[in-house]
Formats: sequence, C-alpha cells, structure tokens
Amino acid sequence: MNNIKNIGDKTLKKWIEDDKYRKNLAIKADQIRREVYGDKVFVRGLIEFSNICKNSCYYCGIRAENTKVKRYRLSVDEIIQRARFGYDLGFRTFVLQGGEDIGFRDDDFIKIIKDIKDLYSDVAITLSLGVRSKESYKKLFEAGADRYLLRQETSDKDHYRALHPESMGFEQRRRALWDLKEIGFQVGGGFMVDSPYQTTEMIIKDIRFLQELNPAMIGIGPFLSSKNTPFSSFPNGSYTKTLRLISILRILFPKALIPATTALGTIRPQGREEGLKAGANVLMPNLSPKDVRGAYSLYDNKLYTGTESAEERDLLSEKIEKIGYRLAVDRGDVISYNKKTRRYD
Ligand code: SAH
Repeated sequence: MNNIKNIGDKTLKKWIEDDKYRKNLAIKADQIRREVYGDKVFVRGLIEFSNICKNSCYYCGIRAENTKVKRYRLSVDEIIQRARFGYDLGFRTFVLQGGEDIGFRDDDFIKIIKDIKDLYSDVAITLSLGVRSKESYKKLFEAGADRYLLRQETSDKDHYRALHPESMGFEQRRRALWDLKEIGFQVGGGFMVDSPYQTTEMIIKDIRFLQELNPAMIGIGPFLSSKNTPFSSFPNGSYTKTLRLISILRILFPKALIPATTALGTIRPQGREEGLKAGANVLMPNLSPKDVRGAYSLYDNKLYTGTESAEERDLLSEKIEKIGYRLAVDRGDVISYNKKTRRYD
C-alpha cells in the first residue's frame, strides 16, 4: 500500500472484495485525512424539505409510484426557519435535500438561498435537488448556493437502466454533474454500495468516473431495502464493504469531503463512528422538523434520533471527541476552495 497513486483495477478489486484489507486501508485512510484535514469533522444540518417526487427510482422509498407514503412539503418560510434554528445550534452549512418536487420553482429556491445568505454571511448552502437544467443550476449558483450533491448512482449504463425507469436518463445525470462543476459548485458524486445487480467492476467504474470528475464531496452508503418498492426483497448492502470503500475513496481522494452517512448509521449502531475512523470527515445530522423526519423514508428504519438529530449537537461533539476527532465550527469547504473565485481544484 505504498504507492497510493494510480491504483490498478486488480488491486482495487481485492480491496473492495476482501475484508482482510479493511484494517490496513482504514489506517492508511486515517493517516491521509489527518494530513489534509487534521482531526476535523464537518457537520451539516440536513433539511429534507419535501418527500414529493416526480421520479420512480426502483430503490427509493419516496418514489412517485409509492402510494403508501404520507407526503409532505415544507413552505419556503418553514425552510428558512429551520436554517435559523440550525444556525443557533451552531451549524454553518445547510443541506437542502428533497424529492424532485415540481411544486418548487427556481424562484422559491432562489428566495430561500438569498434569505438565508442575507441572514448569515458565514454559512454555506448545499443543494440536493436532483437533475435540473443548466440554466436552473446557474440561477441557483448566482443566488448564492455553494455546493450541490448529485450521486451518479452508477457509472454503468446498463446498471443505471436496471435501477431507474426509462424516463430517467443516464447521460442527463452525468451531464448535470459536469454542468454543476463548470458553473462553479463544489460538486458531490457518489453511489450506493451493493445496490441490486451491482458488481465489483461497476464499483471500479464509479471510482474511475469520480477520478475524472474530481468532486469536492463523495457520498456513499449501503443500499438499504425499502418496503413498497420494486427492490423491497433485495438484501441490504454490506457494512464492511462500505467501510472499505470509504477508506479507498479517502486514499484516492485525499481532499474530498466524505460523509459517514445516515444509511451507514442505520445499518449498524456504531456505523457513523466507524465510518469516520475509516476516513470519512463529514456528518449530516437531521435538521428537518421532527414531525416529518420519519416521512423522508428513502429506506426502512432510517435513523433520525439521538446524535443523528441536529438538536443533539453537543452530545455528538462529545462522541466525536471520544474517538479522537473534533467537530469543526466553520463552513467546511473543500480544502482547495478559493472563496474569491468560488473555485476549487
Ligand atoms: N432527489 C435527489 C435526492 C435523492 S435522495 C437526487 O436525485 O439526487 C439521496 C440519495 O439517497 C440518493 O442519491 C441515493 O443514492 C440514496 N438512496 C435512495 N434510496 C436509497 C436506499 N433504498 N438505500 C440507500 N440509499 C438510498
């Protein structure tokens, strides 16, 4: 594990598949994250603003065709209110994530972004609104949004088709990532681990795609089955493979912001802590209104209590210190970010 540049497919395959490498991968990954980001763990307040979605991804619990979900949509004012509440709790990044809810227009998002930025000059806004036109992305960026999370989900075209209905384009999603990058967003890609029909070769393709894209953020988590979806009977993804992949990503992307995701915390009680030790450096506690947290049900048994809840930031801070890290209080941009030009490399 000496030469960490240009790791070949064969080595990657071994590391992805064989758990005997997990410990050494984590040691190497932790060393790299400490060299680049020190012991900092960045926190983001996650506002799940709507579970209404026009899409019907086969894996996702809030897919349009799932009639069993109780749908909700926060108002523009409620969303801004959550940001105010989160700011007082100490959050300096807000992530607005939702289904692809056409009830929200560009102007609604622009108002939310501008109002939050007018209130607080020291916060970053991350959007996760799915695939939109380049013009729309541009407007959102010009309004002041800083980052955009859009997992590619898979870099294999046939696999993409197996996970999504015909109406969702493989090329469009990839195009959207390049558009976001070009516009200037700190962009985030990623994929689920062990999504149905995924092979190791496909994961390697995902890694190669990410190497081309050079994202500021990479989000991965285990696939978790969700009732009332076409994939409800597929098994959950591997916890240990997810940890190995977090380490591999840290080794290949030293500067990346990598979250220990809610999905990882859902599959194992210690999942997020172990994710951090494996090389992750971001946590995204839930800042949605308490009465809707359960309804944003991408998968079954989603964790949103305890330290997964934004209100428990102090407790989270203690927990993080116990495992040798420290909660950062700043916006937590990617380390190569230039605030003046709004670019990173
Ligand atoms: N509408 C936005 C947000 C999607 S939800 C978008 O299209 O980007 C955020 C992420 O949750 C998805 O990108 C997907 O990778 C993940 N996700 C969805 N269903 C999941 C499941 N059943 N198990 C694990 N992760 C899931």
